[in-house]
Amino acid sequence: MYFLGIDIGSTASKAVIINDDKKIIGKGIFEAGAGTNGPNNAEQYAMKDAGISADQITFACATGYGRHLLAGANFEVSELSCHAKGASHLFPGVRTVIDIGGQDAKVLKVGEDGNLQNFVMNDKCAAGTGRFLDVMARVFGCKVSDLSDLDKQSKKMAQISSTCTVFAESEVISKLSSGCSIPDVAAGADQSVVERTAGLVRRLGTVDPIAMTGGVSLNSALVDRLSKKLGHPILTSSLSQYNGAYGASLYAFERFHRK
Ligand code: ADP
Repeated sequence: MYFLGIDIGSTASKAVIINDDKKIIGKGIFEAGAGTNGPNNAEQYAMKDAGISADQITFACATGYGRHLLAGANFEVSELSCHAKGASHLFPGVRTVIDIGGQDAKVLKVGEDGNLQNFVMNDKCAAGTGRFLDVMARVFGCKVSDLSDLDKQSKKMAQISSTCTVFAESEVISKLSSGCSIPDVAAGADQSVVERTAGLVRRLGTVDPIAMTGGVSLNSALVDRLSKKLGHPILTSSLSQYNGAYGASLYAFERFHRK
């Protein structure tokens, strides 16, 4: 039997297929989120990766920002619950999950039983999210996936003081035109996200082990900066961006077996 979890984010759609041993056998991502063909494409990629067809999916669960728009799933679960569930399997024993996606940042406290206990989220603002970094990467003329390497080349971080993404973009342009190097400004952009995230984490308290998920967790320079700022190690995984979809596939597994 095969169980599909699909996470329809603001920026990207992710799909994960697990088997009856809860093992991931296929995954797919498409860089388009709610209201687009992203979910369908992510699902197709995951099925291709797993080597199965749609009629072999036993049960499917949708989560994420655009979960209400997906017709094919059997049921929906909130992204907070799915992130807690996924993380407790990806990082056994995890107690704090920092998830930064394309449009929001959230910190989850997970109980010893792996269930969500509490959470905090950023306000409706792009600062401190992947969107902020996407804007900065566009100014640098690079991909968001290049920011980490640029940050690591920095010799003297250029501090970005504007908290608003629009003002920060102007500040970055002005720093570059006054001679700051791209690596130094990229380091400042990462640090700006770190400062916002640390503020969120402190509202909930830091309980080890801490894991980071969401697309921004792929920026290892930023994760290192956050770990230093919090004074705690942070676990990541190459599957971190699939965490919500993985959690959804685990809910599909559980709901089907409970029926
Ligand atoms: P959502 O679920 O809200 O769609 P994701 O968790 O998929 O968001 O994260 C999307 C964000 O992750 C993008 O806006 C981008 O800033 C960041 N991101 C995606 N891929 C990478 C990468 N390879 N390296 C660094 N950041 C990345």
